[in-house]
Amino acid sequence: MRMPLIAGNWKMHLTLHEAVELAKAVAAAAEQYSDREVLLYPTFLQFTRVQEAVSGTKVLLGAQNCSAEKDGAFTGEISAAQLRDAGAQYVLIGHSERRHILGEKDDFLKKKIDRVLEQNLKPMLCVGETLSEREAGRAKEVVLNQLLAALQHLHENEWRQITIAYEPVWAIGTGKNATPEDAQRMHSTIRSKISALCPSVAHTVRILYGGSVKPDNIAALMAMPDIDGVLVGGASLKAESFIAILRDAVV
Ligand code: PEP
Repeated sequence: MRMPLIAGNWKMHLTLHEAVELAKAVAAAAEQYSDREVLLYPTFLQFTRVQEAVSGTKVLLGAQNCSAEKDGAFTGEISAAQLRDAGAQYVLIGHSERRHILGEKDDFLKKKIDRVLEQNLKPMLCVGETLSEREAGRAKEVVLNQLLAALQHLHENEWRQITIAYEPVWAIGTGKNATPEDAQRMHSTIRSKISALCPSVAHTVRILYGGSVKPDNIAALMAMPDIDGVLVGGASLKAESFIAILRDAVV
């Protein structure tokens, strides 16, 4: 049995005050649910204050990105070691905005996965096809190539730290979500590939869906056998919608 994970990616949104208030509201609501995990990804700058706000609650915290380097002269970067020091548990790697807007490539993302694992943090690898790749019938090929490039070198104990987020790029922030059946097909394909790479973890690695998740589609998504949770962008920025998603994320 995989524990559902409901994650909020706050991207470059919210003031410090808004972030702290939202975190407190989510933490208060999360206490009711012992059968699901809640994870927030604030900005680096807000991380410590958000952490203080959720300290002692069940809310987990992650960083939206980290450096591919261990440490040194990399102005503006933040290392996985610094994230661990600050109290992060998860690190988001390869979000489509980083792949497609900031130009991060597979080999660079693989290095980040290694940096995160070296610090005993949990990488959440985002994979997903663009609309043109989907229309060309290449969605599975693209997603599996992203998965292989970042993860195929891992050992079993490293695989146990991994979470995957399948986020079709055309569904992120657009209001168009994949149908639950479409998402399930891709999640099942991903799980089969994990099974081929590391059979012992295929039934424990969590695969989240992301892309315009809202209170009105969460129940249908969570009803799918290989959807183990969701990564929520826009709807995670308001307590009301994120808490409604959390409430209805019933397996
Ligand atoms: C995301 O940012 O990972 C995301 C899925 O965004 P949204 O929920 O707004 O589509």
